[in-house]
Amino acid sequence: MMKQDNYVAAMLRSELADAVGPEHVSTDAAERLGHSIDYYWVPEMWHDRGHENPQADFVVHPGSAAETAKILRLANTHKLPVTPWGGGSGSQGGALPMHGGISLDTKRLNKVISIDTEALTVTAEAGINTQHLEWAVEKAGYSTMHLPASIACATLGGFLAHRGTGVLSTKYGKIEDMVMSMEVVTPTGEVINTLPVPRHASGPDLAQMYLGSEGTLGVMTKATLKIHPRPETRKFHAFLFKTMRDAMAAGAKIMTSRLRPCVIRLYDEPETARLIKRVLGIDKKGAYLVFGFDGPEKIVDLELSQACAICKEREHEDLGAELGQAWWDHRYKFFYPPFMFHMPQAFGTLDTVATFANIEKVYWAMKNALAEHFPEAAFIGHFSHWYEWGCMLYARFIVENPPQDPVEATLYYNKIWDMAIRAAIKAGGVLNEHHGVGLKLGRLMKDLYGPAFNVLTSVKTALDPNNIMNPGKMGFKGV
Ligand SMILES: Cc1cc2nc3c(=O)[nH]c(=O)nc-3n(C[C@H](O)[C@H](O)[C@H](O)COP(=O)(O)OP(=O)(O)OC[C@H]3O[C@@H](n4cnc5c(N)ncnc54)[C@H](O)[C@@H]3O)c2cc1C
Repeated sequence: MMKQDNYVAAMLRSELADAVGPEHVSTDAAERLGHSIDYYWVPEMWHDRGHENPQADFVVHPGSAAETAKILRLANTHKLPVTPWGGGSGSQGGALPMHGGISLDTKRLNKVISIDTEALTVTAEAGINTQHLEWAVEKAGYSTMHLPASIACATLGGFLAHRGTGVLSTKYGKIEDMVMSMEVVTPTGEVINTLPVPRHASGPDLAQMYLGSEGTLGVMTKATLKIHPRPETRKFHAFLFKTMRDAMAAGAKIMTSRLRPCVIRLYDEPETARLIKRVLGIDKKGAYLVFGFDGPEKIVDLELSQACAICKEREHEDLGAELGQAWWDHRYKFFYPPFMFHMPQAFGTLDTVATFANIEKVYWAMKNALAEHFPEAAFIGHFSHWYEWGCMLYARFIVENPPQDPVEATLYYNKIWDMAIRAAIKAGGVLNEHHGVGLKLGRLMKDLYGPAFNVLTSVKTALDPNNIMNPGKMGFKGV
């Protein structure tokens, strides 16, 4: 980190002030501290134990794509690292300015630009809070249908950068399915646009290349997303199955029958016993499965009855519509106090995705690896985003008393991740489904991609020759 009380820092500050206005460049201690911790357990733990985390030298708030471009050009001149910061709600350490330099806070880019009621799209700046975006779209009579648990604390750009997802993904898609086009500021400071439509045969799709790039290939400054009419109705139903296996077979059959639920969620037996009991008050042994359908009432009723018929082939108990609706009404509670885990516990979301042929193997590979090497770690999981071909496993480990020393705690924590993720990859899973890679999982990218990782590093090197954009993340080299 650069010393602030010398002419070099003052010179850089004056150039940044010239780019965005002096009131939008900060070296304030509280602001730099606030931009040094996201939702990644390791830096939070170091902070919790009294240590200062690496901080940005400047927190800069651009108000437009043109100002963002000026910052990136200046960073190239001075070879300063730039780390985009949206809401700081990411769990992978992606927004942490680990090499100092500039924390580029996007929150002034917060405008809804237009709503197109003919094509059903919304165009907004990328720093907008996702709840504000949804409210604006709802006011016009529509919905983005992007309803993540972090809707109130994350930005649109954070979701674009992490390929994030919301609770209705099974019908409406992840963010990468929702995007029509994007405006991006390249690492060398050009403002570019991807093509205006997401389906074309005009070369590889640039939008899909930037989606998931986690601030390493540029800054997303604007995006056009699809929006949807508010559905006439949305109905839920829940079942209890004796085993997760029975419930998985039912969930897979719903999807492979090509019914179109907006959501399915299946909790394994330990999470049913732990969280479904605490949040919904259902104190029963087994695996809880809930699904919902939305749209015109007649179609919803028909699809719902088909899905219920599939579940009745294997169910243990029909919990009815009410205990399905209760899950929807309390869906965000699972992720916030007092139901979420917290210091001094060590915890992490082992987020992965695989085909129906592999997803249970992935679950057992992770669970067994942890049971063998870390018997003190509790392992719970639910399957939360479902596709025609497979589903996502949101597994979590929780350790009540991790080592006190922060170095030891970091080594211990990383060992759990290495073991669980390598087991998942071997069984057919991938590193991650929607939380991204960041600092947390960068070292495992080569395990996942093999020689194909060279393609990604070549793209990074070509687009960012001075390696200013978020160095040290996603397995790319640091400073
Ligand atoms: C309680 C809770 C619940 C959550 N639930 C969900 C969920 O349901 N679904 C889900 O997908 N995630 C969830 N998350 C994770 C997190 O909210 C998402 O990853 C979200 O996309 C992060 O957005 P952010 O604006 O906070 O990004 P940040 O944490 O600020 O940044 C994340 C990454 O994106 C980069 N970045 C940010 N903005 C831009 C930009 N404009 N251009 C380029 N790069 C950029 C950063 O450099 C960083 O690498 C949850 C987190 C919490 C704390």
